[in-house]
Amino acid sequence: MTFTYDALPMRVVFGAGSLRQLPQEAERLGLRRLLVLSTPGQRVLAEHAAALLGDTCVGLFTEARMHVPVDVAEAARTAARGVGADGCLAIGGGSTIGLGKAIALSSGLPVISVPTTYAGSEMITVWGLTQDGRKRTGRDRAVLPRSVVYDPELTVGLPVDVSVTSGFNAIAHAVEALYAPDASPIVSLMAEEGVRSLATALPAVATGPRDIEARTDALRGAWLCGACLGATTMSLHHKLCHILGGTFDLPHAAVHTVVLPYVAAFNLPTAPAAEQALRRALATDDVPKHLARASADLGAPRSLAELGLTEGDFDEIAVQAQAHPYANPRPVTEEALRALLTDALNGALAP
Ligand code: NAD
Repeated sequence: MTFTYDALPMRVVFGAGSLRQLPQEAERLGLRRLLVLSTPGQRVLAEHAAALLGDTCVGLFTEARMHVPVDVAEAARTAARGVGADGCLAIGGGSTIGLGKAIALSSGLPVISVPTTYAGSEMITVWGLTQDGRKRTGRDRAVLPRSVVYDPELTVGLPVDVSVTSGFNAIAHAVEALYAPDASPIVSLMAEEGVRSLATALPAVATGPRDIEARTDALRGAWLCGACLGATTMSLHHKLCHILGGTFDLPHAAVHTVVLPYVAAFNLPTAPAAEQALRRALATDDVPKHLARASADLGAPRSLAELGLTEGDFDEIAVQAQAHPYANPRPVTEEALRALLTDALNGALAP
């Protein structure tokens, strides 16, 4: 066995009620003028965080949007300059955390993140910006939050459908980490436990969204899966979802949920160690089918057609998928890609 493990700096404060530690986190980082970021839908939560911060909060910017459109990023940077912010607090899902990253990228302002979904962006140095239907991404350590506060209490209001798809979005990070070219024993441990934790918690979340124990397990799993995302290079699954989200404007987490079983069916036969880990984590001997059934049973979309994709979109997807090389355990021919997309379009593995 040979591997390289390059650990990212990571400060995590985890636990029900940990939002109340925000003032101490800001003080620890020497931050006195925070701009609080959120989506319009989470404005009330942002105001609550601002109240906890007291004088340390100097403003709110509540216009975060999916995939970080460049004009929104520019407006947020202007707001940060306008109030003389010395840092940002990004409270919300991947869209809000992505906005914090966009500000950090151009200004170097430190970010505290408070994730309220299971997307995992807070654990990774990748940033994304969308312009004219194309999402650009890059890696920069400057965008990594200085502190991440995970408070399961903030997730009890996450609608069940979003919780489920966001949970499968996290599972997808772990699946690809298990067969990544830079996989390592520590990442594989995190991945297997992350999948186990989420796969057990999500059905309990679906039946009892306010069940704090289930929410805690789900968020703990999401953190582990996010850490896997941050530590490894993603492959075909993330490539496809990136195209489907960025160019066709399909909902990020739902796309991940629908596509994952088909990529697993394609890749796992050439990644036996990853398949074994997932069999253990999911307690199944058919990982792709289990993933498709488990998400469908919890009410998630079953096919890309359901999300609005058509066969006419395949040409563009194929062009974009082949434009830049990416890691994958199995070579992806155009024929194989179209077959995989056809199955995902039709929900071939869904019950
Ligand atoms: P999101 O941030 O867009 O949130 C979805 C909706 O749910 C929003 O309206 C939000 O306000 C709301 N919401 C979030 N948490 C809530 C809660 N606890 N209760 C009630 N409502 C809540 O969705 P997401 O799936 O977390 O993030 C998707 C975005 O993150 C995409 O743009 C994706 O590309 C990006 N992302 C980036 C990376 C990266 O590595 N850079 C990683 C993962 C995701």
